[in-house]
Amino acid sequence: MNAPIETDALVIGAGPVGLFQAFQLGLQGISCHVVDALPHTGGQCSELYADKPIYDIPGIPLCTGRELIERLTAQLQPFPPTYHLGQQISTLSRLPDSRFAVGTAEGQSFITRCVFIAAGVGAFVPRRLAVEGLLPFEGQQVFHALPADLALQGQNVLVAGDNDTALSTAIQAAKYTQQETPNRPASVTLMHRRDQFQASPELVDTMRQLCAQGAMRFVAAQPTGCVIDKQRLTGLEVLTANGETQILPADVIVACLGLSPRLGPLADWGLALERKQLPVQTDTFSTHESGIFAVGDINTYPGKKKLILCGFHEATLAAFGAAALLHPAQKMLLQYTTTSSLLHQR
Ligand code: FAD
Repeated sequence: MNAPIETDALVIGAGPVGLFQAFQLGLQGISCHVVDALPHTGGQCSELYADKPIYDIPGIPLCTGRELIERLTAQLQPFPPTYHLGQQISTLSRLPDSRFAVGTAEGQSFITRCVFIAAGVGAFVPRRLAVEGLLPFEGQQVFHALPADLALQGQNVLVAGDNDTALSTAIQAAKYTQQETPNRPASVTLMHRRDQFQASPELVDTMRQLCAQGAMRFVAAQPTGCVIDKQRLTGLEVLTANGETQILPADVIVACLGLSPRLGPLADWGLALERKQLPVQTDTFSTHESGIFAVGDINTYPGKKKLILCGFHEATLAAFGAAALLHPAQKMLLQYTTTSSLLHQR
């Protein structure tokens, strides 16, 4: 566990609304830390439709999901938050001095006066292979990306999936089998339920060539169980596309099955939830817990629309709400970015 970071504001989620929240907090003179389970910013925009067009952002006739995140990040430059990416917030509780203790599953903790939950549809986490008994091997023999420092010498490597990441991972491992390297695996198997792939045609061609050269093999199958010997994972039991049961040797499994959003620990923080969403007051977008705000897709209120534009409005009022809470003696004035010398200074 790292030493706790003390801050005025913590934003959970670096999707479009979390990023704009950090900007609005900056305008209010409040610095913040931003945490996201993904290794990059952008939430749904980056993960689900990075290259697709968005037409309903005010003042931007057309941009892709990726471009919107680039623009929001550029806008945030005067108030750079500290990002903690690849970390999932797992705990949140109130301290006796009314601040909040917040912790990530990866061991970082925060003590903060305000929390902004911009968690969208939940944390994007890797999809797991639906096989009983595999969970205890996560991080030891089962991974979601091939760790750069993992010793593959003499190991049977099994990659599950049909996307670019799955094929690139299998190809990388298969190429080691053709080299005189101390990291040479004993075998490389790519497994997907059918002989059709989402990956780019170039990667599929390379994979087929490597199979033809004997550097790897492809098996069309679905996993049904795992084989454990002396508390070590040694294989995967599968049902092939032909209906046969087989054991595929596997000392290392890399499950590249994409990401799925999971509400996860948020449900355990003692906050009222309405159909997996956080009810808020619409003047400040505060939850029923003073100091905890909820903005973007995660909140609910009469008339709620899950649109980026609506999330931007919510983040703006939540920042005003936080400023009033953190600086109760200060008069809250509405200032324009066009003309306010205070905002220009900030
Ligand atoms: P998200 O974008 O979901 O981001 C939430 C972030 O929080 C995620 O990165 C997640 O990993 C992180 N997170 C969650 N829980 C935790 C935790 N415990 N710890 C750490 N991190 C956590 N809207 C429009 O306005 N216009 C459009 O044209 C449009 N097109 C769309 C097209 C598609 C295909 C989809 C799926 C959605 C579209 N939307 C569109 C909806 C829009 O993407 C969402 O309204 C928007 O992304 C919500 O932003 P957000 O920041 O609230 O949440």
